[in-house]
Amino acid sequence: MAGYQLSRSDLKHVPIKFICKQCTFVLCDPLQTPCAHFYCRGCLEHLKSSDTVYKCKADDEEFQLSEIFPDGCVRKEIQRLTVHCLYNDRGCDWEDKITNLEEHLAVCEYVEIPCVFDKCEAKVLKSRLAEHLEKECSQRHVECNYCSEEMPFADLEGHIKKDCQSFPIACTLCHKKDVLRGKLREHHDPENGDCEGAKAVCPFSSLGCKSREEMRLSERRHHEQTLASFHLSLLVRFVFTLSDQVGFYVNEINPLREGIAVMDRMKTTVSQLLSQVTAVVRENGNIQDEVHDLRSRVTRVEETLVEPDSVPTGQHSSIQGQYQQVRESLDEFKRKLCDLEASHGFQLDEANQAIQHQENEIVWLKRQDEKNKETLRRLMAKVETMGETLRTQKHVVRSSWFTTQRGPRT
Ligand SMILES: [Zn+2]
Ligand SMILES: [Zn+2]
Ligand SMILES: [Zn+2]
Ligand SMILES: [Zn+2]
Ligand SMILES: [Zn+2]
Ligand SMILES: [Zn+2]
Ligand SMILES: [Zn+2]
Repeated sequence: MAGYQLSRSDLKHVPIKFICKQCTFVLCDPLQTPCAHFYCRGCLEHLKSSDTVYKCKADDEEFQLSEIFPDGCVRKEIQRLTVHCLYNDRGCDWEDKITNLEEHLAVCEYVEIPCVFDKCEAKVLKSRLAEHLEKECSQRHVECNYCSEEMPFADLEGHIKKDCQSFPIACTLCHKKDVLRGKLREHHDPENGDCEGAKAVCPFSSLGCKSREEMRLSERRHHEQTLASFHLSLLVRFVFTLSDQVGFYVNEINPLREGIAVMDRMKTTVSQLLSQVTAVVRENGNIQDEVHDLRSRVTRVEETLVEPDSVPTGQHSSIQGQYQQVRESLDEFKRKLCDLEASHGFQLDEANQAIQHQENEIVWLKRQDEKNKETLRRLMAKVETMGETLRTQKHVVRSSWFTTQRGPRT
């Protein structure tokens, strides 16, 4: 290691010869050169001018490693020195042997350390870290006074200015001062809000009220009170129309539902048919194999049949007759085989056609099924929308009825 680093005031009292010429601190484990200069053992490395030659910083004298020696006398004198903490001027009153300095610095409360939060760039004395984290750190956790959310102190201002939903702000329409930011939309709502500045048309205009003018809250209330029974009659008419329409669509939907059920049943039948056809085809294949087998056996018999030339006269005519008989029955058998093959080939064609037909049928049914389902979905959605409209209008009726009952709002 390099030498002992001392505070400026302590350094003034140390004799110059105890200072390392390389690191300029107080010598640690001192070595003396042939030119009578001192270096810390750890600093010797820096004096190397080649593999084996060292050069003194003070007078450029060159020497070999074997020419230097440790100076126990100087070492003892240095080890006897009493010094102060490096951070004496910051308030640390530690004072002890120079050899204990390093150990003290590792635990000294007056060392400056970076704040534990990366985002906070502050450096604080170890002894003040707790206080910094509690009172000054930009990253200390604080609670928003309005919404109680916790966040780093550095974010609080932006949160209050822009995001805090519980922060009271002034409504730009009615100039009311303490509307919570998160409640602004509710405040502006023409149905349930209390903003005098928010304008809207009569909610019954879509049902036939001729008033198209945008009105403030009080104007709207006045309009609703004056025309309460008219609005109510519009609504009654609307509800009747709506219930007629709903009835109509429900009637449309029912047969569709039945259609889908029938289609499901048909699908089952078709798949049964299909498996039957497959069985026929398989059987046909077996018969064809057998026919093929028979045909090759006939061929083999034909090959072994020899025309009887070399037979003695007398026997000749009867053998010739037998040969002809065998030949004929063989031909007959071949004809039958051909017929059998032809008829099964025909059956196979029929079966294939039937399969093809059923497959087309299934594709058509599937497509039809999809179409029906889509129509059903559309109808359901329509009924849902109508139900929704009905509910909204019911709400409007109720609120305008209440308005009429209670008299003008203030
Ligand atoms: Zn040194
Ligand atoms: Zn020297
Ligand atoms: Zn200290
Ligand atoms: Zn900090
Ligand atoms: Zn907040
Ligand atoms: Zn307002
Ligand atoms: Zn109206």
